[in-house]
Amino acid sequence: MNLNVIELTKTLIEMRSVSQDSNGPISDYLQAILEEMGCEIERLEYTDPNGELKVNVIGRLGAGTGGLAFCSHSDTVPGQEVDWPAFEPEIKDSKLYGRGSCDMKGPLAATIVAASQIDPKKLKKPIYILITADEEIGLLGAKHVTEKSEMLKKDRPMYGVIAEPTEMIPVYAHKGGAGATVTSHGVAAHSSTDKGISANFKLARFMAEMADLRDLSMRDPIYQDDEFDPPTNGFNMVMSDFDTAGNVTAPKAVCRVGFRTMPKAANEELLDLICKAAEKYELEFNGRMADPLYVSTDSPLVGAAVAALDGRKPETVSYGTDGIYLKNMIPQMVVLGPGSIGVAHTIEEHIPLSELEQAVTVYRSMIQQLCM
Ligand SMILES: [Zn+2]
Repeated sequence: MNLNVIELTKTLIEMRSVSQDSNGPISDYLQAILEEMGCEIERLEYTDPNGELKVNVIGRLGAGTGGLAFCSHSDTVPGQEVDWPAFEPEIKDSKLYGRGSCDMKGPLAATIVAASQIDPKKLKKPIYILITADEEIGLLGAKHVTEKSEMLKKDRPMYGVIAEPTEMIPVYAHKGGAGATVTSHGVAAHSSTDKGISANFKLARFMAEMADLRDLSMRDPIYQDDEFDPPTNGFNMVMSDFDTAGNVTAPKAVCRVGFRTMPKAANEELLDLICKAAEKYELEFNGRMADPLYVSTDSPLVGAAVAALDGRKPETVSYGTDGIYLKNMIPQMVVLGPGSIGVAHTIEEHIPLSELEQAVTVYRSMIQQLCM
């Protein structure tokens, strides 16, 4: 098969696949390419909370066990088409512009093109191309894959590359996420009667403690990890009383508290402090915890990436990826892709053509080192 990474990226940009809509059409197109390459296919469909059909596609090439999975998502953030022609790819100054060019249709195209340049008969271990839906709206597709994929359950890939844009710097760790949704119930009444119970006042005492916890997180190194920049955990809080009128006691208020988990930070302890505070004020709460992504820099996976990049030093980043779920199926993962996260989600989203082509070479070299 003769695939060109720039042409394939352009085609994928033209196939609008904003997370709010179905990614059915682009998934059909990608699946057809993977089938033509000789991949065994697993197609995992679900209906999202808005009733849209969502599709995850996994292609597996070559025999054997273990192997290397390239992981991407096919959805994008909205195009903001009022401000630029988001879905009309354009090359200017050796860069390809368009929604999804770097996040992450370009990187996805590079993984497919790299795999297509390998003779599957020469593979001792398989290559996987894993394409998820809904990464941009809560990693729903990746979660679905970890719950439903028979292909990955039967035989787990040993290594994974999350092809999100890192400017081709191998990333061996990113932060995870933890927190709690806390709900306060009151009784609505006109404030003139003084008969209501405001959910907001019940929540306010809890929120004051969260403000102190945020200060503690910023101050106390046990909640930090100096392998990251920043080493702090991004402790945050948002709340809503659902636009209750000023002369009514709020019947319900919800507060979401969250922070980013890191390998060396006291994540469990901090989540416990949040939940204990909610308990103390008799509020309803739901805690959640997702571990960070972390692979030792001694791993053969990191070694293969560094070798393919002529010794480029691996780093850490603070944003999350589908890896938060996929690491449950794939024990060792790095994030490595062309393009810059700094222009993702903007009206200037682009990818340098040279990096797009470099990515194909680097991914192909990693396949050769780890699967052949
Ligand atoms: Zn992305």
